[in-house]
Amino acid sequence: MYDIHRISPEELQHQQLFAQQVRFHPDRPQTYYIVTYGCQMNAHDSEIIAGMLEEMGIMPAQDRTQADLVMHNTCCIRENAERKALGNVTWLKEIKKERPQMLIGVCGCMIQQERMAAKLLKQYPFVDLAFGTGNLYRLPEYLLDVLNEKQRVIRIDKDMNTVAEGLPIRYESPTKAYLTIAYGCNNFCSYCIVPYVRGRERSRLSDDIVKEAEGLVASGVKEITLLGQNVNSYGSDNSDEISFARLLHRVSQTGIERIRFMTSHPKDLSDELIREMAENPVIAPHFHLPVQSGNNRILHEMNRQYKREHYLERVQTLRKAVPGIGLTTDLIVGFPGETEEEFMDTVSLVEEVRYDSAFTFIYSPRKGTKAADMPSQLDPAVASERIERLIAVQERITGEILAGMKGSVSRVLVEGVSRRRETQLTGKSERNINVNFNGDPSDIGRFVNVRITGAGSNTLRGEKED
Ligand code: SAM
Ligand code: SF4
Repeated sequence: MYDIHRISPEELQHQQLFAQQVRFHPDRPQTYYIVTYGCQMNAHDSEIIAGMLEEMGIMPAQDRTQADLVMHNTCCIRENAERKALGNVTWLKEIKKERPQMLIGVCGCMIQQERMAAKLLKQYPFVDLAFGTGNLYRLPEYLLDVLNEKQRVIRIDKDMNTVAEGLPIRYESPTKAYLTIAYGCNNFCSYCIVPYVRGRERSRLSDDIVKEAEGLVASGVKEITLLGQNVNSYGSDNSDEISFARLLHRVSQTGIERIRFMTSHPKDLSDELIREMAENPVIAPHFHLPVQSGNNRILHEMNRQYKREHYLERVQTLRKAVPGIGLTTDLIVGFPGETEEEFMDTVSLVEEVRYDSAFTFIYSPRKGTKAADMPSQLDPAVASERIERLIAVQERITGEILAGMKGSVSRVLVEGVSRRRETQLTGKSERNINVNFNGDPSDIGRFVNVRITGAGSNTLRGEKED
């Protein structure tokens, strides 16, 4: 077992004192802008960073070029995520020449890699502040150091296995909220950098999670998404903790109207969780269940710890227990050594499962992972051609599924006005599909029933039911 570093209330109090000192510092930045890359975990971390900055009296800027502090909350899951972040940081260098008081910060997964921290030190002297994933809670201390010492502060702790409770959060939405239940990952899929930059799996205590959910309900939140790299192994790092199914049950008792969760690992999808989903109407009938590949040899090389047959059995059991459940997935194409036949196994699995939608990725070698050192890395042209074919199959299936929903009624949590057509409202169905419909702006933030009248390539259209 490994040690989990639960940050003590005293350590957090120290940070609050630093936050107060920043607040009254004569050189305090007045405004901030956060650029977020990557997954929902990062999006939620950015809400925490925003919460901490606002506690220090620093307010949101409309535009990053006008902000006094620009934080880049980075991702390194694939090479292009890294390239994008570095490109944007470099772009700001020019703006900083005109506004030298601007502070540039970098945090998150990318910077947690040693080689990236070294690169930043050497090649990005205009970056004022950088910190890793495990020490985000120390932002007030680091910012105070930048202001007092008038020099850059780069603090990438090796200790990533921290859990900090009670940090301030500035929620993006008043009706929907992310709630992290576990950090890190123990699975070491051979292609994946996450365990190296997010640390070992550590579950928050269920009492803390339920307390946070109760606070969200009291503030008017209608839908909570429980977050973790592998939510369904929740509690396995702590023998005193309840299972993920029990946790879902407890959160559902807080008065929340809808619960979602992501992401789940197929090897940890228990019968207990399926039963809870079948019996608990608060849990949305949607399951994001990344399969990555439909071929057993590739799954083995990926260290996914399940076989195609097991995955399909879980899907069948889920569908039987929760009729009408929507399934979505993640797929990787072009893993080292993937043959055309092996790729076609992924296509046939997609045809068999018929996902509502899928995130499709070309395999990207990540330094330090096992797969990056595997021989027979694929020609990028072959991987590109395969992903195009896979996307075409999934798009056809998505189109067919959405078209088949015509005439049904969806319970939609209305999020706002549609970006494409301002006369329409938009929200998500139970199955997490975007629905646009004619409605009254007073419905924003509420659940409404929408009769589906048509479908686009990945959205539904409808009319509000009285
Ligand atoms: N923990 C989650 C899981 O296991 O599904 C999410 C991990 S990751 C943030 C999201 C997705 O990125 C993975 O499911 C996988 O499909 C993809 N991914 C991870 N590493 C990758 C790599 N090296 N190249 C391409 N895609 C990758
Ligand atoms: Fe990465 Fe696998 Fe962990 Fe997901 S389960 S975060 S893909 S190592």
